[in-house]
Amino acid sequence: MKFRLLPFLSTLIISLFILACSDSKKEYATMLIYGGPIYTVDSSASKVEAVAIRNNKILFAGNLEEARTYENDKTQNLDLKGKTMTPGLIEGHGHFMGLGYNELNLDLMNTTSYQAIIDAVAERVKNLEPGEWIVGRGWHQSKWDSMPAETVHGFQTHHLLSEVSPENPVYLKHASGHAGFANAKAMEIAGLQKIALDGVKNYEVEGGEVLVDASGKPTGVFNERAQTLITKHIPEKTSESDIKAFELAVEACHRNGITSFHDAGIPKETIALYEKMKSEGKMRTRIYAMLTGWDKELLNNWYQKGIMVDDDHLFTIRSVKLNCDGALGSRGAWLLEPYSDRPDHFGHETLPMKFVKETALNGLKNGFQVCAHAIGDRANREILDRYEMAFNEYPDMANNHRFRIEHAQHLHPEDIPRFAELNVIPAMQAVHMSSDRPWAIDRLGEKRIKEGAYMWQDLLQSGVPIVNGTDVPVEPVNPIASFYASVSRKTLKGIPEGGYEPEQKMTRAQALKSYTLDAAYGAFEDDIKGSITPGKLADFTIFDQDLMTVDEKRILDTSVVMTIFNGNIVYSQQ
Ligand SMILES: [Zn+2]
Repeated sequence: MKFRLLPFLSTLIISLFILACSDSKKEYATMLIYGGPIYTVDSSASKVEAVAIRNNKILFAGNLEEARTYENDKTQNLDLKGKTMTPGLIEGHGHFMGLGYNELNLDLMNTTSYQAIIDAVAERVKNLEPGEWIVGRGWHQSKWDSMPAETVHGFQTHHLLSEVSPENPVYLKHASGHAGFANAKAMEIAGLQKIALDGVKNYEVEGGEVLVDASGKPTGVFNERAQTLITKHIPEKTSESDIKAFELAVEACHRNGITSFHDAGIPKETIALYEKMKSEGKMRTRIYAMLTGWDKELLNNWYQKGIMVDDDHLFTIRSVKLNCDGALGSRGAWLLEPYSDRPDHFGHETLPMKFVKETALNGLKNGFQVCAHAIGDRANREILDRYEMAFNEYPDMANNHRFRIEHAQHLHPEDIPRFAELNVIPAMQAVHMSSDRPWAIDRLGEKRIKEGAYMWQDLLQSGVPIVNGTDVPVEPVNPIASFYASVSRKTLKGIPEGGYEPEQKMTRAQALKSYTLDAAYGAFEDDIKGSITPGKLADFTIFDQDLMTVDEKRILDTSVVMTIFNGNIVYSQQ
């Protein structure tokens, strides 16, 4: 009897214990968010009242009353006060360190006075140690409202600049790239005091000129080759500047509501940097990285090692980037028919197509996704062909390949349905259409533009998802500009009326999906992010107005006011 009771009792005790635990384990929310439209991008409920999260995961999405049942006295309440929330946005194709270095260098593109440049430098000086360089670009005196009092040969002089930055050398490149502007500290480092002492007027450097004032002292402006007198002293990228650029890129992402980033082609040095950043807790955006296809040794090492899917969802490598043609502007995009504005020219294949097939086979065998850059219709076709051959060769390994074509800008009409047939994902940066469409028609002519350029709606209708993005630093990382381009097919100045090839516009729901769930799909991450669904990561973007309903004309005025990453508020507009 005694012996039979024991198992019964122990079962009872275990059962009671489990019951007790499950009750005390009622999952309470660490944060409750409500008070504004919340778009889930989840097919079952596209708009909800409230979201409850627990630490870095979504616990509940639905009505506020039910959400309240997850509340306890420790729950943080976040009232949106009418603001709009979406899943955290995913930059589907950009260059993270390019973004960081862009941030590191002063951007003077939008300055409209010499004083504005001085102010920007003065601001930057505050955060630097003496001796650290300030490098900027983009100023243009013709954009200034007025010229400063002191000019030489139509250019400003360095004195005001030198005053605000006495200890930090400064070099600011002209928007044209053909001149630069230095302060006294930079000229001192370059040993140009000597020129001043010599009092040489119009000091000539082979292929360039150092502008000097009436007394023979350099004014700070260096033309053409003379720029090297200064630029050779600017330190190359260092591990310190890499770290700084990385941190600035993270901040830029947060400011723009970007919580995940597909980094399109990184070398081994950058992998090492990201690993270091992650280990130091600085990886505060999720990076999905493609290995650069230019380094075959790197690829072979990774094929042997296998994919690296991060359990913390911060830094994942399972993809290879290939660059298969050039850009349209420089007529490098590889076309089936010659350029309309250069009839003897078809553009360039920048990588042997044999290598695309080889990489596709290696990708399938070793579990790596392949992401091939293709702008022109020929490049797109050749890549689809190579992908198809590889799928046919290894059909068993090709059932969830998620291979991508980056840009997929200009397609032959016969190739458009092949994306869906082959399950190849087009990763298309909508803002490129806004920037390029006005002149792209010169390169391609009307027929090719109408039948095959930026074919978003045709591709979506055929059943493939589109991964959106900006290709930063080619374009600013601003997702709102790309969203506007997606739904309006206008330039960012709002032309033409009705948009270019309006039948190819995305709907707002499609555009939001291309920046969230579809982008997540393009990285095998649709199970953990891209929609506001219980169990997924708590990454959200909050906007000051409802970009799903606001008048089209006002979309570009939308600001990101808050970014929540991994359950934490990482950015909040002042
Ligand atoms: Zn790119």
